[in-house]
Amino acid sequence: MTTPRRLESYVCGCWTPGSQPGQTLLDAATGEPVAVIDSTGIDFAAALAHGREAAGPRLRAMSFHERAGMLKALGLALMAQKEEFYAESLHTGATRTDGWVDIEGGIGTMLTFASKARRELPNARVLTDGDVEPLSKDGSFSAQHILTPLHGVAVHINAFNFPIWGMLEKIAPTLLAGMPCLVKPASQTAYLTELMVRRIVETGILPEGALQLICGSVGDLLDHVTEQDAVTFTGSAWTGRKLKTHPAVIANSVRFTMEADSLNAAILGPDAVAGTPEFDLFVREVAREMTVKAGQKCTAIRRVIAPRAQVDALVAALDERLGKTAVGLPGDEGVRMGPLASLDQREEVRERIRDLQAAAEIVAGDPDAVRVTSGDAARGAFLNPVLMYAAKPFAAGAVHEVEAFGPVSTVMPYDDLDEAVALARMGRGSLVTSVFTDDPKVAEELVLGTAPWHGRVLIGNRASAKSSTGHGSPLAPLVHGGPGRAGGGEEMGGIRGVKHYMQRTAVQGAPRLLSAVTGRWIPGADVRQGEHPFRKSLAELRIGDQLVTATRTVTREDVEHFAHFTGDTFYAHMDEAAAKANPFFDDRVAHGYLIASFAAGLFVEPNPGPVLANYGVDNLRFLTPVYFGDTLQVRLTCKEINPRENAGHGEVRWDCQVTNQKGEVVAQYDVLTMVAKEWPLAQA
Ligand code: NDP
Repeated sequence: MTTPRRLESYVCGCWTPGSQPGQTLLDAATGEPVAVIDSTGIDFAAALAHGREAAGPRLRAMSFHERAGMLKALGLALMAQKEEFYAESLHTGATRTDGWVDIEGGIGTMLTFASKARRELPNARVLTDGDVEPLSKDGSFSAQHILTPLHGVAVHINAFNFPIWGMLEKIAPTLLAGMPCLVKPASQTAYLTELMVRRIVETGILPEGALQLICGSVGDLLDHVTEQDAVTFTGSAWTGRKLKTHPAVIANSVRFTMEADSLNAAILGPDAVAGTPEFDLFVREVAREMTVKAGQKCTAIRRVIAPRAQVDALVAALDERLGKTAVGLPGDEGVRMGPLASLDQREEVRERIRDLQAAAEIVAGDPDAVRVTSGDAARGAFLNPVLMYAAKPFAAGAVHEVEAFGPVSTVMPYDDLDEAVALARMGRGSLVTSVFTDDPKVAEELVLGTAPWHGRVLIGNRASAKSSTGHGSPLAPLVHGGPGRAGGGEEMGGIRGVKHYMQRTAVQGAPRLLSAVTGRWIPGADVRQGEHPFRKSLAELRIGDQLVTATRTVTREDVEHFAHFTGDTFYAHMDEAAAKANPFFDDRVAHGYLIASFAAGLFVEPNPGPVLANYGVDNLRFLTPVYFGDTLQVRLTCKEINPRENAGHGEVRWDCQVTNQKGEVVAQYDVLTMVAKEWPLAQA
């Protein structure tokens, strides 16, 4: 027997052991001691202050792209050390497949956030939210919503089932927003989180204080949270409610995101009868969700809703598949399902199965007679999958109320789609539901009927069978969270998740000052004319640099040439009578794309220069018809500059306004270009 490792908390820049003997944590499969945990004596108020004071200003001084670069470097460094995490993960009962979800799934989530931030956020420290709202007729008073990072610490209290993914999926958006984190993993599996935090700290990539860790109880931590802090929680509804109603959380309106138990459903469509690909996919998905992580997944399928006529075939197919699930030591080849997290957790699940038996009968598996292919069933927290059946699902209160956090699901029959939807809703709000059908009408009815009760809905059918990411996988770009019983919180969801750690503020004022605040040019803000802005590299270019072009008159010959050259001979350009009969036009009109092309001809600087490429336009609108003889002019203004980190160029967005001889705006859009940081380009 090896001596258990004494876990330490990482607070105020030091690895700190607790001052008491602590609690011994046991290997889920062998019952051997793995680690000792204790946080007695830690000054939690000082830890919060350290995060706010040491790391907050340094994180906020970085741009989104700099923070994204930091996360990418960190993700790559952790990926290079993944085998060490896999080895430690075995103690939690996780098989290699389970560990993959937690370890590589977690690091992958961090890398996805880093890459989305580089692509979707500006290289700036403030985010604008929505369009400018003009508030005066003369354009002298406008408003713009902005998002800025909170100045506190995000306290992340996590569950035992995903000691790595649970941490990384939360700290990635938090750090991107510019906010430091304090992570409190569930004690049972904290040794794996602690190992990863050690490796993170060793890289020196994060500013000191950006990530702190508490191994053990959080003591009086929540007494010290302020209006600038945020708390997220994943775990039982009971603890979640207790923390959400903590006096300091309520008094300071602390942002509290909760993800608690969730009785996720999977619905088999009426078209997906035995023998169809959807039926087979459904069986595979339910069995997988029951057995991955031994069913200890917040997204696992707990309620299986099937057409009455398919129930017998479904139960038989699941019984056969689950019966083949080899349960044993998670590191052994051939083992498909490891133990639960602890013997206590197994007792808890057995008790919940007894609660469920008030409303459902066991149709496959026996919670008390454990069969293992390796390991000791008395010392390891093993449990074979248990399938239940509730013949009267609308009277089966327990099935819709009790979460057995293990390899346990209950099948229920329905007679029509309304019933299927009503049963899914009886979970009172879940993280995810899935619908297996190949019938578009069934998909529409089931998704729209269940969506208000869910944070995510997956449709499974033959076409997506190979590429589907599955019912149980929360993904970085998608919302993870659910209403009601699921906690009412929302995590990830791509850049939405970053905004959870920022304050939205409506800023009102003169355009010139709004533009100074956001770093983005808006109509009415200062402009500078002079040298052609396309001759300026990023070293010289400033927002508000503007070009007012020469003019060009559009002729009938231009329009006819363009029509025949491109093949766009739409009648409004070619047929006078038909154009006049059109309610929008008084005569034949120029093509919108001809206007955009003439505009480019007017604003272009033809010589080699710092503008390297035009990569598109945004928000192109043709606002006023252009008739033969109309004269066009362009006003091009530098609107936003995003220098790329680690590259010789950046993206520049130009406000492009095309007017006619009466000053009416005929076209409006943003031109998107790549511009060199220096010109001439440095020789490679
Ligand atoms: P808990 O709610 O007991 O614990 C969740 C987290 O909260 C842990 O980090 C825990 O720390 C912490 N915690 C507990 N009490 C306090 C407190 N007073 N102040 C601050 N933090 C606290 O859930 P468990 O992880 O023990 O799981 C229990 C049940 O919750 C499971 O059986 C399952 O039903 C459900 N669950 C649901 C999940 C979901 O996402 N749907 C995920 C995990 C669990 P510590 O471990 O040190 O007590």
